[in-house]
Amino acid sequence: MLKIHQLHKSYPIGDSSLHVLKGIDLNVEEGEMVAIMGSSGSGKSTLLNIIGMLDEADSGEYILDGLPIKNLTEKKAAVYRNKFLGFIFQSFNLINYKNAVENVALPLYYQGVKRKERQEQAMFHLGKVGLADWAKHLPKELSGGQKQRVAIARALAANPKLLLADEPTGALDTKTSHDIMAFIQQLNDEGKTILMVTHEEDIANMCKRIVRLKDGVIMEDVKVTQDRAENYV
Ligand code: ADP
Ligand code: MG
Repeated sequence: MLKIHQLHKSYPIGDSSLHVLKGIDLNVEEGEMVAIMGSSGSGKSTLLNIIGMLDEADSGEYILDGLPIKNLTEKKAAVYRNKFLGFIFQSFNLINYKNAVENVALPLYYQGVKRKERQEQAMFHLGKVGLADWAKHLPKELSGGQKQRVAIARALAANPKLLLADEPTGALDTKTSHDIMAFIQQLNDEGKTILMVTHEEDIANMCKRIVRLKDGVIMEDVKVTQDRAENYV
């Protein structure tokens, strides 16, 4: 599904540069559920953004679903992003003036799906996250957990092969975090490949594999051995 070899990334700061990713090697197979952990500033978001084609590495290899991701035009990157990837963010990133079903329908609009079909598919996905009755509500009328469910429905709307999440529970209380994680686990049980960034151990333990980053290097890459259900407090 995803192959990364010797990936490097630096950011310019003034006259020098900050070496953020220092030779990352990472393979993720279809059906995996991987947590990327590490303290603040360790390069987690940078790595996820490169995987999500929102940013590009300086050197190294990145192959997504057999496709080398290199020197893509912005237009081509957008097409691949739409086709392969769904995104979930800590801050939900919903559009404030659009209601729940309109938010979910947005990726379908970018895929050129016709209006009626968009509406039907968006409603289907809202139903899947348990929010069919909230379709007409604006984000400000929803709780944090409900907003993240809408965001998940939106991420799923275009049927992506890979779901990327950056601190998906970072803005939620513990109970709601676990509810959202249980839902993401269910998506994984249904076959969706999931890669998420988190700095919370209990959240990472609800994934199947944990990759630990430190100062831009992978320090550890382990399977989660406990029954995942045990972690659902
Ligand atoms: P994490 O998500 O693990 O907290 P990030 O990948 O966001 O870490 O950031 C890694 C390091 O790179 C940090 O020191 C951060 O300040 C720096 N950084 C991130 N993005 C940029 C950018 N666009 N320009 C300059 N420095 C950046
Ligand atoms: Mg981050």
